[in-house]
Amino acid sequence: MIEIDGSEGEGGGQVLRTALTLSMITGQPFRIVRIRARRIKPGLMRQHLAAVQAAAAISGAEVTGAQIGSTELLFQPQAIRGGDYTFAIGSAGSCTLVLQTILPALLFAPVASTVRISGGTHNPLAPPAPFLQRAYLPVLHQMGADVVLDVERVGFYPAGGGVLVARVAPCAGLAPVELCERGARSAGYAESVIAGVPLDVATRELEGVSSGLGWTGDDLRVVRLAPEYGPGNVLLATIVYEHVTAVFAGFGEKSVRAEAVAKALVGRVRRYIASGAVADEYLADQLMLPFALAGGGTFTVDKVSQHALTNASIIERFLPVRFAFTQHGARSTCAVTSACPVSSAQAAE
Ligand code: AMP
Repeated sequence: MIEIDGSEGEGGGQVLRTALTLSMITGQPFRIVRIRARRIKPGLMRQHLAAVQAAAAISGAEVTGAQIGSTELLFQPQAIRGGDYTFAIGSAGSCTLVLQTILPALLFAPVASTVRISGGTHNPLAPPAPFLQRAYLPVLHQMGADVVLDVERVGFYPAGGGVLVARVAPCAGLAPVELCERGARSAGYAESVIAGVPLDVATRELEGVSSGLGWTGDDLRVVRLAPEYGPGNVLLATIVYEHVTAVFAGFGEKSVRAEAVAKALVGRVRRYIASGAVADEYLADQLMLPFALAGGGTFTVDKVSQHALTNASIIERFLPVRFAFTQHGARSTCAVTSACPVSSAQAAE
């Protein structure tokens, strides 16, 4: 039994999600205490409970402590089962975070899966769906995974009502990749997505991106959704390189000016561009688990976050891997070494 203190390091939901994923894949049960102890509202919120329930459904796990507000959980998985699943978060909780919890496990299932998750698809403090589609999944594809993700309906926080559908093919094992250089840039564009929000908000955000990054014309796009999808606004910046696509998201809020949303986003994009790294801080912490399952690989990152360091220590509890971060100027290298990668045969044992 692996014992985890959820207040460790960053002390957020990722500690729990990483533990759920790796418990399913390795078959090792775990107990976690002080869940999300470093968050304003500690314990399981709807999104975390949905992740626990989804993980339990696909692995036939016995679970104790799966209630809203719970700060302790015992999770004992059995074999991972592919198939068709529907999970409703029941709030605007992030569908992408629930999907990222079960997706690596479903790669190791004996049969293909279709997963439908309802809740929020574009949430602050989580990867919006386009981040998974453009940045995260293409790296998994390079590693040998076959996953298709569709947004059936956009759901903004706090209204929710969004639906994601993921189709996951079984995979014999993930292959290590070296992602140290981005390669040539082929495109860079910004989208201001608005639903039930004045058009003026989108145009001011895009003006901010234009003056901060020098992007113009067709590279500045307004995506206007029907008001019933909102209210909601997200500003996305996407840069396509030969070996990676980077996606940055800034969320509009009632009390925050459009110019401020654009300025914060531009700052992050500029830091990323100047660093020369492949991954931004968010993609980095999300790639660590697949890289660990591959048993090796290297990527560069513009900023090593507390999330990444905490994730490394949780992953190292479940898998025979070591993460090493080394800084070179404005970027760092994250190198994963392992005694053995995980194969689907092991995961099914
Ligand atoms: P936690 O705060 O522990 O629940 O983890 C949040 C997760 O969401 C981490 O994996 C972050 O990389 C990811 N995340 C948060 N904000 C963003 C963002 N703006 N873009 C992409 N991913 C994000």
